[in-house]
Amino acid sequence: MTSTIQAVRGMNDILPDEAELWEEFEAAVRDWLRGYGYRPIRMPLVEPTPLFARAIGAVTDIVEKEMYSFVDALNGEELTLRPEGTASCVRAVLQHNLLYGSPQRLWYAGPMFRHERPQKGRYRQFHQFGVEALGFPGPDIDAEHILMCARLWDDLGLADVRLEINSLGSTEERLRHRGELIAYLERHRDALDAEAQRRLHANPLRILDSKNPQLQDIIDGAPKLIDMLGEASLKHFDELQQLLKDAGMPYRINPRLVRGLDYYNLTVFEWITDRLGAQGTVCAGGRYDGLVEQLGGKPAPACGFAMGVERLMALWREAYTDLPREMPDVYVVHQGVAAQRMAFRVAEELRGNGFSVVLHCGGGSFKSQLKRADGSGALLAAIIGEDEAAADQVTIKPLRETIGQHRVARADLTDHVGQYLFAEEEDGNV
Ligand code: ATP
Ligand code: MG
Repeated sequence: MTSTIQAVRGMNDILPDEAELWEEFEAAVRDWLRGYGYRPIRMPLVEPTPLFARAIGAVTDIVEKEMYSFVDALNGEELTLRPEGTASCVRAVLQHNLLYGSPQRLWYAGPMFRHERPQKGRYRQFHQFGVEALGFPGPDIDAEHILMCARLWDDLGLADVRLEINSLGSTEERLRHRGELIAYLERHRDALDAEAQRRLHANPLRILDSKNPQLQDIIDGAPKLIDMLGEASLKHFDELQQLLKDAGMPYRINPRLVRGLDYYNLTVFEWITDRLGAQGTVCAGGRYDGLVEQLGGKPAPACGFAMGVERLMALWREAYTDLPREMPDVYVVHQGVAAQRMAFRVAEELRGNGFSVVLHCGGGSFKSQLKRADGSGALLAAIIGEDEAAADQVTIKPLRETIGQHRVARADLTDHVGQYLFAEEEDGNV
C-alpha cells in the first residue's frame, strides 16, 4: 500500500464549509474597502530575496529565521515566498510609477509565508488583508486607518478587539533612544537571556518585545522612546490622538509597542483580543515614511496595516454561528436516455435565468437520486422521467415542505421555480 501525502506542516487546507465562510468574510471586507476609496493591487507571491532584507531589516525575526528563501534551480536567482505584503506593494508602486502625480490608497489580500513554529493562530502559510496609503504625511491618514479598522470590527459584529497605539518617533529619536537603551541593557547584561544578549547591539528594541517573564522587570525599567520624542513627533502623535478622541475611539498608549519590522516610524498600532489566547493580535500597522526611499524611490510618506485573516476568522466564527450554508436552488433528477438529454437542457435554461442548479450525475434509482437531492440542501427537485420527457414536462417537488409535487410544462418551469423561491423568500425560509 502506498502512503498518502500530507500537506506541508503549518500550511492548511480550507475545506468547503470553512471556505464558504471565508468568501462571506472576504465579500464584507471588499465592501468595506470600497467604502473608503481603496483600490486593489495584486503582487506576485515570490519576490527577489534582497527586497525583504532591505525593506524589513536584516536583523528581524522575519528575515533572520522565518523566510522561505531558495535559489531557482533553473537560473540561479535568489527568491523568497513573500512573508508580508508591504515590501511587495511598495516595490510594485515604484516599478510602475504609481506615485507619479497623486497619492495612492491601495489594498491587497492573499497568502503570506513564514517559517514559524505552527500553533493555534500561527501558521506557515497564513493570509492577510493589507492596506497601504502612499504619499500621505498624516496624521489624518493614520487616523483614517485606525477608524476604518474599527468600522470593520463593527461590520463583522466583532466585540472585544481593543486598540493600542504608540509613536516610534523619527530616525534621530530612535537612535538616541537606542544608545540609552543599549547603555541601560549593558548595565543589566548578566540578567539577559541568550537571545537578548545576542540582540543587544543588533536590535535592542526587539528585546523590549521579549515574551520571557524573567526579563519583564528589566524591560519595565528601560528608557522609553516616547520620553525622547521631539516637538514634531509629539505634535504628530497629539494630532492623531485628537482625531481619535473626536471620533469617540477608545485607545491605550502602550509605550512598549514596537513592531517586528524595521521600516516603521511615528505612529504604530495594534488591535488585540483576549479571546484567542497568545496569538491575540488580529491587525497591526503604522507609518513607514522611510521605506519608499529605502527601496529606491523619491521619498514619500506612507502608512498601512495588515490583518491576519485566520485570527479574524476564528473570532468571527464565534460571533456568527448561524451562517447558512450555500444551497443550490434546484437539484435535477432524471432517468432514461431521453430524460437525461432533457435534464441537461432544463438545467442550462434555469441557470440562464439566474438559478443555481445541480444536475444529478452518475445515474441510480429515483429514490437514491432524491436522497442526493435532499442532501444537497436544494429547495426544489426537478424530476424528469420517461413520462415527463415524452410530454416535455417536468415534475417539481418541494424538498423542504410536505406540500405535494406537481407537473408543469417545460416552457413554464422557470416561472414556477421563480414563483416558488420568491414565496419562500417572502416567508423568510431562505
Ligand atoms: P506576531 O507578533 O503575532 O508574530 P507580527 O508582528 O509578526 O505578529 P505582522 O507582520 O505585523 O505580525 O502581521 C500582521 C498580522 O498578520 C498579525 O497581527 C497577525 O494577525 C497576522 N500574522 C502574522 N504572522 C502570522 C502567522 N504566522 N500566522 C497567522 N497569522 C499571522
Ligand atoms: Mg511574527
